[in-house]
Amino acid sequence: MIAKKARADEIKSLLNRYSYEYYTLDKPSVSDAVYDSLMDELKSIEAECPELITIDSPTQRVGNKLLDGFQKVKHERRMVSLNDVFNKGEIEAWIERTDKLMPGHKHEFFTDIKMDGLACALIYIDGVLTQAVTRGDSFVGEDVTNNVRTIKNVPLRLHEAPGFEQFLRGRTEIRGEIVMLKRDFAELNEKQKALGQPEFANPRNLAAGTIRQLDPSLVAARPLHFRGYDVLRDDDAEVPTNSFAYEALTALGITRNHQASTFTNLADVMNFVNEWDNKRHDLPFNTDGLVIKINDRSLYESLGLVGKNPRGAVAYKYAAEQATTIVRDIVISIGRTGPATPVAVFDPVVVAGTTVQHASLHNADEIARLDVRRGDTVVIFKAGDIIPQVESVLKELRPAGSKPIDYLAELARQYPELEFVRPAGEAVYRVKGLSGPLILKRSLAHFASKGALDIDTLGEKNVEALVEAGLVNDLADIYRLTKDDLLGLERFAEISAQKLIDAIAAKKQPALERFLFGLGIRHVGAQTAIDLTNHFESVEKLSQATIDELREVDGVGEIVAESIVAWFADEDNVKLLEKFSDLGVTPQFSQKSDRLAGQSFAITGTLQSMGRDAAVEKIRNLGGTFQTAVAKDTTYLVAGGKIGASKLKKAKQYGTKIIDEQELLQIIKE
Ligand code: NAD
Repeated sequence: MIAKKARADEIKSLLNRYSYEYYTLDKPSVSDAVYDSLMDELKSIEAECPELITIDSPTQRVGNKLLDGFQKVKHERRMVSLNDVFNKGEIEAWIERTDKLMPGHKHEFFTDIKMDGLACALIYIDGVLTQAVTRGDSFVGEDVTNNVRTIKNVPLRLHEAPGFEQFLRGRTEIRGEIVMLKRDFAELNEKQKALGQPEFANPRNLAAGTIRQLDPSLVAARPLHFRGYDVLRDDDAEVPTNSFAYEALTALGITRNHQASTFTNLADVMNFVNEWDNKRHDLPFNTDGLVIKINDRSLYESLGLVGKNPRGAVAYKYAAEQATTIVRDIVISIGRTGPATPVAVFDPVVVAGTTVQHASLHNADEIARLDVRRGDTVVIFKAGDIIPQVESVLKELRPAGSKPIDYLAELARQYPELEFVRPAGEAVYRVKGLSGPLILKRSLAHFASKGALDIDTLGEKNVEALVEAGLVNDLADIYRLTKDDLLGLERFAEISAQKLIDAIAAKKQPALERFLFGLGIRHVGAQTAIDLTNHFESVEKLSQATIDELREVDGVGEIVAESIVAWFADEDNVKLLEKFSDLGVTPQFSQKSDRLAGQSFAITGTLQSMGRDAAVEKIRNLGGTFQTAVAKDTTYLVAGGKIGASKLKKAKQYGTKIIDEQELLQIIKE
């Protein structure tokens, strides 16, 4: 709770600074996606602990300080903001909430493209433009009438049209967005370039900055554009629905979007959302999403507000290419040829439509350049299919007492048994004394070994020959071998070549636990591979597991979890798994018996009726655990012959039951 409060306070003060830069100075220092992502985090903390909501929270207020130099005008009706939603599920939840609040009403949803500009209210008295006011803090805005008069598509007098005569009598307020069209923005920037002047950052901030210039002649020189989205009359009954408001806008000579539509169900709303996700880049103005409102305005009104946002509408935001999250760990993965690659592991976050939870930090220099540390809030960038990157660190949100990453110390902590060198001219550290082929030989021999895939005749000598001949460059390559490949090597003749090809083909559907063990993920021994298999049931699920989820598995602690995450975060390994799957290698999960679940066995001496490995496999297949030595939680010590004094003592001390081979056979009988 204390940690939550501290985090909420820090986010609040940072968002308030961003909001001042954006709304008051029109000079944001971060993207909207970063702002929205932090806002989302703050909202979820506040939802969990409502007592942390304060009136100065950016979740509660709209805009920021108003600029001096403009007359302040109180809005007759508050100019609210909208609640953001980011996916279909959130739209659905909003619909369910509104359903509950107005039982028995059939929904009609009014959807329109959301323009990324600056909200402004135009007040017409008897059809004549008399005042234009920015949204400001939603209660009070700035009088920008003189500047708005220079906008060419804002009519100084509303048009007369049959059926809409009443809007030319009394007070008609038109609300809409002032934007700069993309084409005009590009032209303006061309001119800036030609004059050797700095280019403008984006159309929204330029539009907002322009409309709040004190000199109208400067405003007139910058082409702005107005698009209406609302019509207000003193008598609400004159505008019963949003679709009617849009008809009125056109009749009165106000530019508006013609894409706006009404729908009666979520599926149609989602079609509209998806359609515009593709087409929005062709629109003449920038958009960051869609607005979805309850079409019936009396229902909309009756739903009221929560904080600064109406209940009857939401803003759907398209997938952003940036998001913020917290770095939980920095783990190091050793690649196939020995390079040590650091990986940032963070709280899962949706970027560009997909959930990501780790990103390569490439090397020690990149860690130093970003100065990224454990506990840091970072900006993750991902565009479409591009691999996610840590773009920057929000240092303002850094926890007190955090320390820079000492990369060599990290290597020593995570790989105490290895030595690393950084070859001259290279950015990455590598395992000292291990050449690529040597690592490959070892890992392939392990992959093929009895405890792993158990590939007949693929012993050390054959492995060596295959690697040295360049026929195998990674573990998956063995599934590509042909008999002719093998016949080209001295070691193989017709029969031995066929034998190996058949043996490899026979292991195209290996048991998942054997496959996982065979991959050679550091700290994932045979027993851990079984535990992981039983818990996750597929490579895919395991590959997406977070450190916390991994730690739920018995026997998986922090170091093991880090090692697994690092392995799956390594791009080489991701490619390797894809290659296995392209070659038709599909590890199989089979539900093991759990008859011996919770029982653990240690074996001493020699068994007569079967080999030790076979006994261990039987125990494991029945859900039991095998232990190499008697430990606190050992259920049975199987005595193959006489037991040494120290083992006996331990077994007594831990209450381990001593059984002989016959008793073991009874227990593991199927
Ligand atoms: P909002 O963008 O969530 O949505 C509300 C606004 O949408 C309305 O006030 C209206 O002006 C506008 N709108 C556009 N098209 C519309 C349409 N067709 N129908 C109805 N309304 C329409 O709310 P907001 O409070 O104006 O602004 C929040 C936005 O500002 C966020 O996207 C946020 O990222 C950005 N922001 C960025 C920073 C930064 O530092 N980058 C700081 C503060 C805010």
